[in-house]
Amino acid sequence: MTTLREQKSIFMTTQPTPACYAIRKAHLYDGLGGSPLMADVVVKDGVIAAVAATGSLNLTGVSIIDAEGLALAPGFIDLHSHSDRSILVAPDADGKISQGITSEIVGNCGNSAFCEKADLIREILTETGLRECWGDINAYAEAVTKRRPIVNIGALCGHNTIRSRVKGFEDKPLTTDELNQMKELLHRALEQGAAGFSSGLIYFPGKFSESSEVEALATVLRGTGKPYATHMRSEGNEVLPALEEAFRIARAGAGKLQISHIKATGPNNWGKAPTMIAMIEEQQRSGLAIKADRYPYIFSHTSLLVSVPAPFNRIEGGLLQKQLRESAEVRQNLLHTMTEKGCIRGDWDNVIIMNNDPKLRHFYGKPIATVAAALELTVPELYVKLLTEYKSGGSAAYGTMNQDAMRLFLAQDWCFPGTDASGIPSDGSLGLCHPRGFGAFPGFYKIAREMVPIQHVIRRMSADPARFFNFKNRGVIREGYAADLVLFDEEQLEGMATLENPTALSRGIHQVFVNGQLSYTREDPSFRGRNGVFLRF
Ligand SMILES: [Zn+2]
Repeated sequence: MTTLREQKSIFMTTQPTPACYAIRKAHLYDGLGGSPLMADVVVKDGVIAAVAATGSLNLTGVSIIDAEGLALAPGFIDLHSHSDRSILVAPDADGKISQGITSEIVGNCGNSAFCEKADLIREILTETGLRECWGDINAYAEAVTKRRPIVNIGALCGHNTIRSRVKGFEDKPLTTDELNQMKELLHRALEQGAAGFSSGLIYFPGKFSESSEVEALATVLRGTGKPYATHMRSEGNEVLPALEEAFRIARAGAGKLQISHIKATGPNNWGKAPTMIAMIEEQQRSGLAIKADRYPYIFSHTSLLVSVPAPFNRIEGGLLQKQLRESAEVRQNLLHTMTEKGCIRGDWDNVIIMNNDPKLRHFYGKPIATVAAALELTVPELYVKLLTEYKSGGSAAYGTMNQDAMRLFLAQDWCFPGTDASGIPSDGSLGLCHPRGFGAFPGFYKIAREMVPIQHVIRRMSADPARFFNFKNRGVIREGYAADLVLFDEEQLEGMATLENPTALSRGIHQVFVNGQLSYTREDPSFRGRNGVFLRF
């Protein structure tokens, strides 16, 4: 049955959005956390020209979107994105915009697509079909701009990226000269408009760095007001010392810390969530600005390589894969070690295959133990096979978190949603992903609104992240601000993506505007407006 609301017309997707229009009778959330009110918003040339209580503006002759019964909020901001390359390969992918996201910050977890060295990422370049490698943020910004992305893109400068550029993937401390080279790369990236500095201290080669190295690099952030964003060295047994390390590094920098995908993994550590929160709040009281992002799921998604046991965990992934391919002895050794040690991240039943390699697609979403049994292999045998035969060794979801701890993090006012995903198309042409790539924001909204008033949930999805990351004139519905807007049904809004159907579009998002232009409408989900810009900070 078609409801009255569904019949309401938006601008024709076959025609350009008018230069001036008004969204009328919207239940307006301005992003700042005030109570919603019935308002009209006038957009002119991509910018919010007026905001006023419904009926108080003269809208004669202005094109109208009748938003009665719908909520209007600032476009959502995804501070934790990995769309660095996907935005170039599929600039019109709908994974993010269909959640109401209008801006993404890429370059998280220590990896940015600029400052790279071509010979180190040849495999990635081959996989994505991209032939370029970007020496600095200016070159990357140009590449993004040329593609006309569907959302706005800003970028962090990644520690792993600059370390590999200077030092390769060697398990060695830096010389003074190398440290200075890295500082210079970071300094230049920040000058050219990088949003901040990120680390991923479980990945290569960041895992080889001492705390003091990252602290020294963080000093480059001083005076910039830009955050240090970190995928911490441990989210499991060592999560508390890892948190202390993050505090120290952020204090060496601009005093701003973004904790990436905050979590405590493994049943032994679930109970640490309240301690983590207490530690964070103590630091906040003493002046350190701390925020965290979190996706609303209790399973993570990362490379299978992160659960390779010692001593293989000291060999960079690409190199290990090469060794596995070339040497039966290495394969045998790894198999032996894995068989001896068992699963080093939870148990095998909690490791779910998420590989997007088309040849493995029929196993997507299934426990690795089930797949192994179907192939008449042991799990370590399958593991070695995946690492040897498939691109990037494959990836998996690790079901190592619990609901209570997740809800506790989501309840915190300093916790924002983050997809921790790259934006991919819902047609599956770029493979599959963790459901968070399609449902993290509506999913966050649905859980958080049970705990706090909607206006505060919206604030944490828009104005708060915008302010923390120094967005200029975005994240609030206010005169003079960019018209990044999302029109949604506040009762219906919900993430629908699951492991069974990871690219299902969210429910409740009606229209999304980026820089004032219609960019997504549920009335024509095949429509894509490509109106994003590169954001410099
Ligand atoms: Zn991460």
